[in-house]
Amino acid sequence: MEFRDSPEQAAWRKKVRNFLQTELPEEIRGKGGLFAKLERVGAWEQWRKALAERGWVAPAWPKEYGGAGMDVMDQFILNEEFAQARAPMIGGLGTMMLGPTLIAHGTEEQKSYHLPRILAGEENWCQGYSEPGAGSDLASLQTRAVKDGDDFVINGQKIWTSTAHFADWCFLLARTDPDAPKHRGITYFLVDMKSPGITVQPLVNLTGSHEFNEVFFEDVRVPANNVVGEVNRGWYIGATTLDFERSSIGTAVGNQQQIEDFTAWLRDHRTEMGEARYGSLRREWADRALEVHVATLLAYRIISMQAAGQIPNAEASIAKLFGSELAQRIAGTAMHTLGMHGAIRESSAPFAGNVPQSYLGGVSQTIAGGTSEIQRNIIATRGLGLPRG
Ligand SMILES: Cc1cc2nc3c(=O)[nH]c(=O)nc-3n(C[C@H](O)[C@H](O)[C@H](O)COP(=O)(O)OP(=O)(O)OC[C@H]3O[C@@H](n4cnc5c(N)ncnc54)[C@H](O)[C@@H]3O)c2cc1C
Repeated sequence: MEFRDSPEQAAWRKKVRNFLQTELPEEIRGKGGLFAKLERVGAWEQWRKALAERGWVAPAWPKEYGGAGMDVMDQFILNEEFAQARAPMIGGLGTMMLGPTLIAHGTEEQKSYHLPRILAGEENWCQGYSEPGAGSDLASLQTRAVKDGDDFVINGQKIWTSTAHFADWCFLLARTDPDAPKHRGITYFLVDMKSPGITVQPLVNLTGSHEFNEVFFEDVRVPANNVVGEVNRGWYIGATTLDFERSSIGTAVGNQQQIEDFTAWLRDHRTEMGEARYGSLRREWADRALEVHVATLLAYRIISMQAAGQIPNAEASIAKLFGSELAQRIAGTAMHTLGMHGAIRESSAPFAGNVPQSYLGGVSQTIAGGTSEIQRNIIATRGLGLPRG
């Protein structure tokens, strides 16, 4: 890995940095997030337009579909600079998951209908994969889709469906052949969330927020034209990712910024906390700083593999596992640092009351996107070559 930018990369970085200095509206700095509903008003709309003009709503998509056709290294630099500036990316699951799947496997009709609407911020998407009895072992999903004339009729239940309460569409996996081996009888559907028979019920999480939901399907009719790829091949369709930069450099940069923010706070409050407590916190933050360096190097390792045309496998699991557990350790150390103030979630509290929110919210990071146990299984089998237990 060459850590320094090439002259072309340095020029690209400068261009992105200049863009951020001139175009990022101050009121949305540090806001947003993958699962946030981004309103198409005011500063958000101004920001969306500035990104869309450059194809930066979906940097990895080919230019013919409104993306920037950016190679992974340029995406890495873009994401690193955006994270440094605390600039939100927009587009959510539509740009990250559904768009690449349609580009690779969708019909012309599906592409020309959905891709422009995703880029315009007119379609929010949710992911209907997990079920009460199918999470880590997703291929055992039970939601059924049965062909009836020109439609499929869907019955079943999804759970933990983030943003389903404001999503316009859902990309959904359902079983179309119950007799086939479990990975083979699954089909990938595009489901309009306004279809009759869909009920969305909120699940309020540990932080008190409504982010995910249960979604019930009762005789929901979905036109056969809304199948992506072949019937019964949905498992393989769902695995598409395109050339997305997958290093999580943005998270590593965010972690580094947290270290800087909290060590500044520690310095300012040293005298009131006493030497023993200060000494112990200083050592805790030293550990976190070291771990953030490791997370940053893991991000560089993944991007260097992707730039060389390799597909990170156990390496991606190592980074996911380490990054999500690190987020929890950082939140824990932040809580130790604030002491009793860490119990207050009001905006008048230190760091606007966000520290206990991160502490509680961090728990879900080791579950979402593949649990820590599953990541360890992958590292043990694919990384270390140990037989399955
Ligand atoms: C914040 C958040 C957002 C989410 N958003 C979505 C979404 O939008 N759409 C969606 O479809 N899903 C979503 N999910 C669901 C997520 O994908 C699942 O929670 C995850 O895959 C784990 O599945 P599960 O909850 O059914 O747990 P299970 O798979 O039942 O696991 C229970 C426990 O058993 C362990 N375990 C399971 N199998 C093994 C094994 N083989 N070896 C060792 N240990 C094992 C797990 O690690 C875990 O500790 C979200 C989850 C979270 C937390």
